[in-house]
Amino acid sequence: MSSARFQVYVTRSDMPECGIDLLKKECNVKTWKDASPVPREEFLKSIAGVDAIYCSLSDKIDEEVLDAAGPQLKVIGTISVGYDHIDLKECRKRGVKIGYTPNVLTDATAELTMALLLTTSRRLPEAQQDAKTGGWVSWAPKYMTGPGLNGATVGMVGYGRIGQAVARRVKSFNTAKILYFSRSERIEALEVGAIKVSFDELLKESDFVIVCAPLVPETKELFNKSAFEKMKRSAVFVNTSRGGLLDQDALIYALENNIIWGAGLDVTTPEPLPLDSPLFKLKNCVVLPHIGSATIGTRNTMSELTAANILAALHNAEMPAELK
Ligand code: NAP
Repeated sequence: MSSARFQVYVTRSDMPECGIDLLKKECNVKTWKDASPVPREEFLKSIAGVDAIYCSLSDKIDEEVLDAAGPQLKVIGTISVGYDHIDLKECRKRGVKIGYTPNVLTDATAELTMALLLTTSRRLPEAQQDAKTGGWVSWAPKYMTGPGLNGATVGMVGYGRIGQAVARRVKSFNTAKILYFSRSERIEALEVGAIKVSFDELLKESDFVIVCAPLVPETKELFNKSAFEKMKRSAVFVNTSRGGLLDQDALIYALENNIIWGAGLDVTTPEPLPLDSPLFKLKNCVVLPHIGSATIGTRNTMSELTAANILAALHNAEMPAELK
């Protein structure tokens, strides 16, 4: 009886239980024992013969993994909307389906993007540190000042699900103008009056630049030395997409030399960011540990959707969120 059940491998022990419980009803679930990404060697050894892999963005899914799993592998379910860790071409070549988690994390990620933007522009970590360590001497007119959103021009790089959700929130702060850069014109931009512009125009005009585009070959290190130099000296750069969209050394140089005003990063290269990174030493940079979608409810829903994707693929049914 049990030999007829599907075999699923889960790459860490702390995936939200609600999704794992759904899988367990119909499948034999083998899970890496720790609440940390499975080491590569262990991963390759453990997936031989499985029908499905439930993974996260920490797990690189490439030719070697697909070979190690074997030709019976039917589906990869990633608990993320980003898919830059998966070799799509190789999966497609072998007929391995990919499930991901679009939409369900859009609001949580947009909220975090706004939180990071305001934390950076209003210097919250620096201000709190100062208050705790005696730097708060009296109210002072120029103390801890930073750029405001009221009347500002905000540039969105990537205007998909998350970009639009951020733009709606940005609009409610009485911004003057919202610009966006993406390959196609978005009808949804009409809702907030966002204007499509070239990348260079967006850099030149924006007081805040927010990155919401996926990491694909065309966006890799889109933000390089020349891009930061085109931005306003007063500009705030916010990235909640993927660290690979920027040349991190160029950002460090821009922050150290006041070429831009500040940066808020939820994503870095590599992750986790080493403790000796210059980014941690810069007062004009806020670094968060990739927590864009980290609301309790969102993570539970993401886990359920990942499981639902896997189960549908295993039953040759339509997947709720297949990456095509
Ligand atoms: P989406 O709906 O697919 O939106 C992506 C946007 O980027 C679209 O506007 C797309 O428009 C644009 N784009 C794609 N390729 C581009 C290119 N070569 N040049 C310029 N623009 C390009 O995706 P989403 O759901 O909003 O998610 C966006 C990304 O956010 C994900 O890929 C993921 O990496 C990241 N993310 C991070 C977190 C976190 O925890 N920090 C959480 C969720 C998502 P066109 O196709 O018209 O160019």
